[in-house]
Parts: sequence; C-alpha cells; structure tokens
Amino acid sequence: MTNLSERDAKVVWHPFTQHHTAPFSIPIVRAEGVYLFDENGKRYIDAISSWWVNLHGHSHPYIAQKVAEQFLKLEQVIFAGFTHEPAVSLAERLLGILPSHQAKVFYSDNGSTSIEVALKMAIQYFHNRGFEKRNKIIALSNGYHGDTFGTMAVGAKSAFNAPFEPFLYETCYLAVPVAGQEQEAVAQMKKYLENADEIAAFIFEPLIQGAGGMVMYEPEVLEELIALAKDKGVITIADEIMTGFGRTGKMFATDYIQTKPDIYCMSKGLTGGAMALGVTTCTQEIFDAFLSEDRRKTLFHSHSFTANPLACTAALASLDLLLLPETQAQIKALHQSHVEFAQKLKAEKASAVDSVRVRGTILAIEIHTGEGTSYFSNIRDMAYNFFLEKGILMRPLGNIIYLLTPYCIQQEDLDYVYACIEEFLNFK
Ligand SMILES: *Cc1c(COP(=O)(O)O)cnc(C)c1O
Repeated sequence: MTNLSERDAKVVWHPFTQHHTAPFSIPIVRAEGVYLFDENGKRYIDAISSWWVNLHGHSHPYIAQKVAEQFLKLEQVIFAGFTHEPAVSLAERLLGILPSHQAKVFYSDNGSTSIEVALKMAIQYFHNRGFEKRNKIIALSNGYHGDTFGTMAVGAKSAFNAPFEPFLYETCYLAVPVAGQEQEAVAQMKKYLENADEIAAFIFEPLIQGAGGMVMYEPEVLEELIALAKDKGVITIADEIMTGFGRTGKMFATDYIQTKPDIYCMSKGLTGGAMALGVTTCTQEIFDAFLSEDRRKTLFHSHSFTANPLACTAALASLDLLLLPETQAQIKALHQSHVEFAQKLKAEKASAVDSVRVRGTILAIEIHTGEGTSYFSNIRDMAYNFFLEKGILMRPLGNIIYLLTPYCIQQEDLDYVYACIEEFLNFK
C-alpha cells in the first residue's frame, strides 16, 4: 500500500473496476520501451500494450520530440472553419496507406467516437438521399465497438450493458463466422438483405473480435459477407480500432481481402498509443451525399478537441516509425515467434488449453476450464495476479489469455513471457 494508491482510492473511480473488491491501483511512475515501472521500482512487461494502444514502446523519444516541438508552435485550435498542418498531413498519409477509394478523413477523440461518426455517416447518407427508412445496422454477434450508447447498441448484449438495454436500438446480429459457422453467418446475412431497403450499414471487427475474447475468423468469409452487403447498397464499416496499424501482420486487417469496406474506423495504435485520437474515413460517394444548399444535410458532429494538433503530430510520428523496415521486420519476427510457441503449446499442453490462436502479432490461448468461456471465470483473476507477480501485465479476457505487445519487445522478454505462460498452465 502506498501513499499514491491511498490518495487514488479516496478520489478516483477507475474504468471497468469493481471498487468493492479491487485491490489498490498500482502507481506507475515511469515507462520505457515495453516496461512500466511502479513506485517501488518494480518492472512490468506491458504484454497488452496498455489496452492495445502502444505500438513502439512507451515514452518513445521520437514521438515525444515531435509532440514537444508541435506544442510550442500550436497546441490546439478549433477545427470548424480552421485547419492546420498536422491534420492535413495525417489525412494525406492515412489515405496513402488505405485503399484508393477512401477519400475523406473525419477526426474525433477515440475509438467509440470514430464508430459513432461512422454510424451517423451511414444513417444520414440514406436520410439525405430520401431513404429515411434505411436505418438498421447489421453487426456480428459477440462484437465490441465501444462503451457509448450508439456503440453498445451494435456490440454484444452482455452483463456489461444489461442496465442500458432498454435504451439500445435494435441491431440485426449475424453468427460469428468462425470455423464451422461461416455458412450460418452467410445465410443470416442473405435473410436480412431480403429487406435491404431497411438496412443502412454492416459493421464488423475484421478477422479478430478483440474484447469478445480474441475470437478469430478467416478473410474468405468476411469477403463474402462484405460483398453480399455491398451488392445491396449497404454501407460496410470496418472497425480497425484494434486491428489497424500492423497488428494482424498487414497494415489493416481488411488488407487480407479484395472487396473493400466503405468506411474505416481507427484509434488505439493510430498515435502509437501516445495520445487519444480517432479517425473515420469514407468514400467520395458518402461525402458527396452531405453536399447540399440545404444546410440540414450537414454532418452535425464535433468534439471540442477534434483533430487536436498534438495528437495528429503523435500519429504522424508513429507512422514514421511504423513504416521503418526495422519495425516491419519486428512485426514479422513477432508473428513467427508466436506461431512457434503456439505449435509447442498445442503439442505439450493439449489438455490444459482448449484453443491456441495466432493472427499476425496477436496470440490467444483459451484455457480449459470445463465450464466454457466466461469473462467472470475465476481463472481470470488467478492469471492476472500470477503474471503481475512475475512482472508481466496481462489482462485475461475471462479464461482467454493473450499477448498483444508493442512491436519492439525483445526476444528475451518474449521468451520469459512464454515460459511464465507455460508455468501458469502447469500450475493452474
Ligand atoms: C477499444 C475498441 C473500441 C473502442 O475504442 P475506445 O477508444 O476505447 O472508445 C472499439 N472497437 C474496437 C474493436 C476496440 O478494440
């Protein structure tokens, strides 16, 4: 128990935290690379990139330098009626790495807001063109798109949003198209599309459902679902908030498919995890549906800090680092290392694990509990504490432990984390 922890407990309400039973929060005083250091000098390997945001390690000197320089030039300015270099350059560079049909970049503050913007774009696109009834959303079951009302409504119905269910609009859910369920998802999509004149959009986490338990599915079925939706004029929205910027081994998860979505949502790794920023990009056709002499056709959405120059600068610096050959090599090596460890686990620990999955730089292990998958499984707390004790920050999703590390993690640290995972699987 430390002074800062005590002061914290008196005045702070933490996210996703049951304060009745939660231990004191750990005060982190400094971070460098993949390491977090607490008040007592204890070191933790940040194996989940601080909730999936960090790409290049903490307190990166290059990002810090760029942001500091920008702060002394321009730290914030209203983004309606005004613009600035970091926002324009970032939009140019993002459009440069996205498929060529993406034409416009809309800024907001975080992942949830980037999804809200995408949903509003899709619904108002049809509204502006006189199809007010086209306002339903198709989504994958078990998805996660954020914690605001609009994003909860398209996410999984669970204990997390049960109190709010009466306020969440109706969504058309598809089965998660994991192995064995592809045809079910496709059939459900076709069924919903029989009433395509009521459907505005199809939203999905491409290839990996993060918060839903690092659930992975194949590009082929996603391609089929997107093609079916697009064929009926439904706007397709890729939630690349977790998967973007190299996590799946390609720049975007949707780079694994040919049929490109109409809207992309990004956040998390966008700034290398250094600052809060969200982006929603869309096609020229969507943008054009908002052009009119009639001012009611405007997209009336903004946040005070839209396109904050410091956040845009952090994103530009992160992109510089991401595109370096060294970083691309790190991403490949991390993938290869996970593949080898996954093979080893499957061979040696078959009875302790229900499934081992790898996509790009993400490794997920579903631990056998005998009671199926549950976020509230006891294994979660056991694992969380076990790894903290070992100096590793992991945050299992129920009985699913996973690695989603900064790309710069050294093999030595990775091997240590793997060894601790094996120890946990023997011990539990
Ligand atoms: C984290 C996440 C969000 C929400 O982003 P926030 O910045 O936490 O609001 C949405 N979608 C996916 C896939 C995410 O992983």
